[in-house]
Amino acid sequence: MTLPAAAAPSPSESVLQSVKESARRLNTSQEVIELLSTAWREVRAQIPVRMENRRLRIFEGYRVQHNGARGPYKGGVRFHPKADLDEVRALAMLMTYKCALMDLPFGGAKGGVMCDPTKMSDVELNRLTRSYTQHIGMVLGISRDIPAPDMGTNAQTMAWMMDAYGQRYGYTPGIVTGKPVELGGSYGREQATGRGVAICMREYATLEKTSPGDIKIVIQGYGNVGSWTARIAHDMGFTVIAVSDIKGGVWNPAGLDIAAVDRWFAVAGSVAGFEGAEPISNDDLLELPCDYLVPAALGEVITGDNGERIRARVVIEAANHPVTPSGDEALAKRGIPVLPDVLVNAGGVTVSYFEWTQNIQQFRWSLETVNSELEKRMVATFGELMTRSHNDGTRPRQAAFDISVERVAKAIMLRGFV
Ligand code: NAD
Repeated sequence: MTLPAAAAPSPSESVLQSVKESARRLNTSQEVIELLSTAWREVRAQIPVRMENRRLRIFEGYRVQHNGARGPYKGGVRFHPKADLDEVRALAMLMTYKCALMDLPFGGAKGGVMCDPTKMSDVELNRLTRSYTQHIGMVLGISRDIPAPDMGTNAQTMAWMMDAYGQRYGYTPGIVTGKPVELGGSYGREQATGRGVAICMREYATLEKTSPGDIKIVIQGYGNVGSWTARIAHDMGFTVIAVSDIKGGVWNPAGLDIAAVDRWFAVAGSVAGFEGAEPISNDDLLELPCDYLVPAALGEVITGDNGERIRARVVIEAANHPVTPSGDEALAKRGIPVLPDVLVNAGGVTVSYFEWTQNIQQFRWSLETVNSELEKRMVATFGELMTRSHNDGTRPRQAAFDISVERVAKAIMLRGFV
């Protein structure tokens, strides 16, 4: 008799698993673990939108505030058909640890609306964003909870959110980050996540005593994170051999001309079909031989199943939660290190923090200042994490959670939450 296979953990169960493992290593009190096991507040709201065809559609939206011991809640808003409550909860938890790892004075939150933004007009997206802001606005605030862009949202979405919030509560540019520069956004925010990913790859290459010129990279996803990672990595001298988006991928083992890919994308709206490269599916792209594999689109794309077939030397998690726990085990068994999302994609929230501080002070930093402050923080945290991993004999993800759980637990105790 064969036993039924155990159900795969949900995204939030996967994050919690990492937290509980850290808590065990750190001897964290059971009460603190209990507090960290659920979110402080979860708002689920109806988001009614009058579509352009005059029909009313009611979407489902969320804002989850996981833990605020270290500061106001901070996290992006995702517009995606799969942005259900469990996914948003998992991403909110990750934000708590990402902010703590980077030593930013924020707690963790995330928002989402289950919708397909690629099938909505700008007018509909504007209405959806305003409706969402109106329905969750009571839990936001410049010292309470500050949203930012994530998958399916961008600077324009943040401009609409800021405007909708301002109409009700008064002009408050610091209520969201990732805004257009013209509305108080920070220079360098759009590129920040990709820049942080590229910095991590460069630091890892230095640690391996290799140079970017000898390293071939594969990137899944060509949105904000994937495309900026490709551009900045290319400028640093890495060879980007494959990129993809939802419509498919392109592969050239000799290296892609990223400027030419961008020109193609501007016309075609996708990297798929780019001439001078072979077409490749998203699944096959993940299994290409390369040095660094960079999932920069969806979560849970590397699992126990395809983990056996990954041929990269290192996995660099630019997306949130792209490797499942069974994927992690499969990669570890084969000696493939994983640089974790809480470090790799933290450049975005770090520059969001700079934007928030600039808004509070009503003062603007130059692009050079933003980039050099980001560089300092990414390099310092990369070094701290890898040193901890080396000293404790833990994997980079475990070291990242050990550092951040320790910080969050300390803040919880000092605040007197338990
Ligand atoms: P985006 O919406 O700008 O781009 C997403 C990309 O993924 C697009 O190229 C899209 O075509 C592609 N994609 C969507 N579905 C796909 C599929 N089924 N197969 C292959 N590709 C698919 O989103 P983004 O802001 O670049 O975010 C990407 C990831 O990075 C997400 O996991 C997000 O949570 C994470 N992240 C983003 C930021 C940020 O600052 N934007 C910060 C930290 C983490």
